[in-house]
Amino acid sequence: MRTLRLLLGDQLSDQATSLSDIAPGDMVLLAEVMEEATYVPHHKQKLVMVFAAMRRFASRLADRGVAVRYVGLDDPANTHSLAGEVLRALSEGGFDRVVVTEPGEWRLVRAFERLAVQAAVPVEVRPDTRFICPRPVFEAWADGRRELRMEFFYREMRRRTGLLMDGDQPVGGRWNFDAENRKRLPKGMRPPKRLRIVPGPVVQAVVRLVEQRFAGNFGDLDGFDWATSHDEAEALLAHFLDDILPGFGDWQDAMKGGEPYLWHARISAALNIGLLDALDICRRAEAAYRAGRAPLNAVEGFIRQILGWREFVRGVYWLKGEDYLAGNALGADRRLPWFYWSGETEMACVRDAVGTTRRHAYAHHIQRLMVTGNLAMLLGVHPDEVNLWYMSVYADAFEWVEAPNTHGMAIFADGGVVGSKPYAASGAYINRMSDYCAACAYDVRLKRGEGACPFNVLYWDFLIRNAPRLDANPRLAMPYRAVHAMRSDHDAIREEAEALRAALGAVVRQPQGGR
Ligand SMILES: Cc1cc2nc3c(=O)[nH]c(=O)nc-3n(C[C@H](O)[C@H](O)[C@H](O)COP(=O)(O)OP(=O)(O)OC[C@H]3O[C@@H](n4cnc5c(N)ncnc54)[C@H](O)[C@@H]3O)c2cc1C
Ligand code: SF4
Repeated sequence: MRTLRLLLGDQLSDQATSLSDIAPGDMVLLAEVMEEATYVPHHKQKLVMVFAAMRRFASRLADRGVAVRYVGLDDPANTHSLAGEVLRALSEGGFDRVVVTEPGEWRLVRAFERLAVQAAVPVEVRPDTRFICPRPVFEAWADGRRELRMEFFYREMRRRTGLLMDGDQPVGGRWNFDAENRKRLPKGMRPPKRLRIVPGPVVQAVVRLVEQRFAGNFGDLDGFDWATSHDEAEALLAHFLDDILPGFGDWQDAMKGGEPYLWHARISAALNIGLLDALDICRRAEAAYRAGRAPLNAVEGFIRQILGWREFVRGVYWLKGEDYLAGNALGADRRLPWFYWSGETEMACVRDAVGTTRRHAYAHHIQRLMVTGNLAMLLGVHPDEVNLWYMSVYADAFEWVEAPNTHGMAIFADGGVVGSKPYAASGAYINRMSDYCAACAYDVRLKRGEGACPFNVLYWDFLIRNAPRLDANPRLAMPYRAVHAMRSDHDAIREEAEALRAALGAVVRQPQGGR
């Protein structure tokens, strides 16, 4: 039995199930194809990262004596689709079956189903075992629950893995130390220096390719320093665990102008493409706590992001099916303002978040959620436009993780599947958690009128506009008490917000712009 093993650009792991029973005579196929490079207009750095990591992983396999068929983007015979490349390899003969690990999005699930019909040999799609929670385990956990809440799933995962457990009790007597993880950054406090990965020849060659072929895509390439090999990813992780993790908890929600990473790990991209292993990361973070090298609030907070949120959103993505992204629970109908791409805005928080995104293909969670996501929701931007933006601008963007975070957590378009309430906030939240407002053209203290922070009037307008959908939500009882108390101002707020939306470019979307 001679097997053709298709390996995708986000499956670059020795543990990929498609490689598990590799035998002499088998061939591993990796292909750089335009279909994958263009299904959204990816950030240039993401293209470089994925192609360079594919090339380096292919060399690593070849060095071990594995037969590799590598199809470059510039290969004149390239058919530019994954299915096309499998069929081309099959047509050259000698394979008895195709094996692939399940992809990370519905689009490719369907493509592989079509491939299975077209191919003359069986196509076997295997589960992706790089996740800590197998899909059937998530489905069983979700079965019969009225609501899916990350916190309960996370506790289940702690018990299942034994991470941060003392017998059947959580270490420290509590499951969650989040309340200790919302500190504002003290004035003058500098975040730790980050490890810089110097691009080698493979990366440099791909940078040239991407500059030529994707010149119009969003993002800068100068300063590219993503990990593109297992060794580089390991160096990033070790640096984080040794030097940065101890401060992860305290300032997890803080933002600071010109400081993209603060105490965040910056490992999501390497993890999502297979250069790191999720359970290994969690175990090593726990070991740092047990050895007294990092406090519990930091380690629990960090493990919760991976064992809890990352596994939870993946479970939700597959559970909810491909119609998940069609939802638009708040009836949002606006266009995404142009400054999401250009960064040209007087709003200092948005300018910094978009600027960081452009320069690094990165923004940390609170920037994504409470600045760009929050603003898009308050403006009423259509979910398709918001999802497209998030898929296009981050190096770690893959639909299984991007969609529930954006569509669910950030803009509440799923009506409460991922989060129990919208993460809507006025400028006061951003002011509390950052130093942005001090350097902003707008005044965060002004609720309305000339020069007032746009988040303020948009926040109240959001609550007023969505009262029929959200007023009964017990988690919004407090803001809605305030909304009711200002009833006589509602019309003026709505009018001012509408003028602001127009001025910011969040105009009503034409129907033909739909998905
Ligand atoms: C609107 C929006 C869109 C997002 N899109 C993506 C995306 O496309 N890809 C992606 O990997 N993450 C996404 N996230 C989650 C999170 O913002 C990133 O994982 C994180 O910022 C990556 O940076 P880091 O490695 O420094 O993370 P840290 O803050 O250091 O966290 C450690 C790790 O925990 C995991 N993690 C943390 N939060 C989440 C979360 N909410 N969901 C899943 N994993 C999480 C990541 O693997 C991350 O590397 C999104 C969040 C929001 C609000
Ligand atoms: S004043 Fe408003 S727009 Fe300006 S930085 Fe603060 S929150 Fe952002």
